[in-house]
Amino acid sequence: MRVLQVCAELFPLLKTGGLADVCGALPGALAKRGIDIRVLVPGFPAMLAGASDARAVAVTGGLPVGVRLLRASLPGSEIPLYLIDAPLLFAREGNPYADAAGHAYADNHRRFALLGRIAARLADGLDASWSAELVHGHDWHAGLAPAYLRAAALQGRAGQRRAAAMHTIHNLAFQGLFGAQVLPELGLPAEFFRLGTGGLEFHGQVSFMKAGLHYADRISTVSPTYAREIQAAEQGCGLDGVLRERAGVLSGILNAVDDGVWNPATDTLTAARYSADKLGAKLKSRRALQESLGLAPQDQRPLFGVVSRLTEQKGFKLILEGLPALLERGGQLVVLGTGDASLVSALQQAAAAHPDAVAVTVGYDEGQAHRIVAGADVIMVPSLFEPCGLTQLYGLKYGSLPLVHRVGGLADTVADCSLENIAEQLATGFVFERFEQADYQAALRRAFALFARPADWKAVQRRAMAQDFGWDTAAGRYIEEYALALGRAP
Ligand code: ADP
Repeated sequence: MRVLQVCAELFPLLKTGGLADVCGALPGALAKRGIDIRVLVPGFPAMLAGASDARAVAVTGGLPVGVRLLRASLPGSEIPLYLIDAPLLFAREGNPYADAAGHAYADNHRRFALLGRIAARLADGLDASWSAELVHGHDWHAGLAPAYLRAAALQGRAGQRRAAAMHTIHNLAFQGLFGAQVLPELGLPAEFFRLGTGGLEFHGQVSFMKAGLHYADRISTVSPTYAREIQAAEQGCGLDGVLRERAGVLSGILNAVDDGVWNPATDTLTAARYSADKLGAKLKSRRALQESLGLAPQDQRPLFGVVSRLTEQKGFKLILEGLPALLERGGQLVVLGTGDASLVSALQQAAAAHPDAVAVTVGYDEGQAHRIVAGADVIMVPSLFEPCGLTQLYGLKYGSLPLVHRVGGLADTVADCSLENIAEQLATGFVFERFEQADYQAALRRAFALFARPADWKAVQRRAMAQDFGWDTAAGRYIEEYALALGRAP
């Protein structure tokens, strides 16, 4: 099966969030299962810098002026990586979607339409040596790929088989919405924008995400619970109707953890290597974290860690409002993140007021993310909504018990330390029901109470670390979906 993965982020080359982790790990897992997988990304500077072996592909049918198709391989593997070298559109340092002031680039429709268009052409002979049978796009950035495939099929020769399309939603809150005036630049049939029936049209605007959902043969999102949640108004971001209509082809495939990157037994970015049998060494990680951040070197109360984009979605309202209670009980809080200026300043104020107990690092730092996940006793992900969430999975893997809101993928991956779950040996963390301070604080209290019982804490840690979130299982599920998209028996 020849599959082209299309994405805007790819770990370790370029990452702003979980999308990069998934897109970086999935191709290897698919290749191990025999899929002929290739990856297509925009030629952002970080992508080009990481693809040192890139060379131009001799393309069939030409490309727009100023655009070249390069081919390299994914770092550390032989999986082919196509890059769109288009300096006018992509040669901008930093965040791939927005300028230094955080404003989305005005030509994002052009930038990501090119991604979708090249993806579709790679299913139609652009590279004479290889052609995709299925195009698997991720998030709105790749949303137009299925639309271009459909448009090509409408113009195609009778009997010619159209490549299949699969679209994966990593976060429905980001949709790629543009004014209708961008339409002529996209080069798609006018009926694709027809009110009511057109796949691109969303309340008079052009929606790249909706195009993906409408024209793809199969749709997935990154957890079973989120797959249900987005079919209702509360979390549907206005697309719940489209998703209900397409419920028959929509599934939730839980993200996994790349064992080569996130593994406490082999992690070279942290102070000490440890495993479920040798948890003593985990304490070294906590001590090193406290020392490096100037926190009091206490070990009687839990240290809470947060590694996150600093946005409302991630539940900072609860964390900030609940901070006095956390500190009163003797807890410590370590935060790493970038994002909203108002959250940065509120967190920095808290750190300045409590230098022994609160440390905030503003910035993006892969090594520090590992050190916090390894050094914390509790990893907090109290998100308002969460399609899957990866940090709680890393927390489980590192025996740093997750404290989460029961929503999306968080609900699918963490079992609360309720009395009955502890008794039945199911508990792996702390889960609160409603996104309210009282519920959040009750979960915090459960964390303090369990921490005061070291034998029970250790038992829950061991269970958390034994959870299996391997990529092989997820890859198997994607392959089933590919088969369905191609009309083959899975
Ligand atoms: P989202 O994709 O919504 O940001 P996820 O939990 O799915 O959330 O993925 C977040 C990923 O980004 C994780 O790998 C996390 O470790 C990483 N991350 C988030 N913020 C930072 C940061 N400031 N520095 C380093 N890594 C970060």
